[in-house]
Amino acid sequence: MTDVVQRAKEALEGVYEGPWVNVGGGNIHVDPVGARPPVAKTWTKKNGDFVAAARSLVPELLSELTTAEQKLAAIRELHYPGEWLDSTDCVECGEPWPCRTAAIVDGTPGEGEKQ
Ligand SMILES: [Zn+2]
Repeated sequence: MTDVVQRAKEALEGVYEGPWVNVGGGNIHVDPVGARPPVAKTWTKKNGDFVAAARSLVPELLSELTTAEQKLAAIRELHYPGEWLDSTDCVECGEPWPCRTAAIVDGTPGEGEKQ
């Protein structure tokens, strides 16, 4: 997941500020139109809509992903194996380590569980 975050951040470096708009004829411009030279020329309306939307969607997705990762990290901090006597049960939920929550957060759910 980190690689895609890094690639997305790199893809945003140096590009015109957003938002971008598809003004028709395949022409993608910074909004407001005329604030900058054209961004791109595309073929088909759908391609133009995608390129224009990507300028806003990529940073929005990065923000959403960062928030989700922070939430997972907070959950993961609560679930860790105990280190007393002979028990390694999860200190949060009491399940044998690794508990289901930790396994899901770590992306290693046990047999029979959906990923
Ligand atoms: Zn747990």
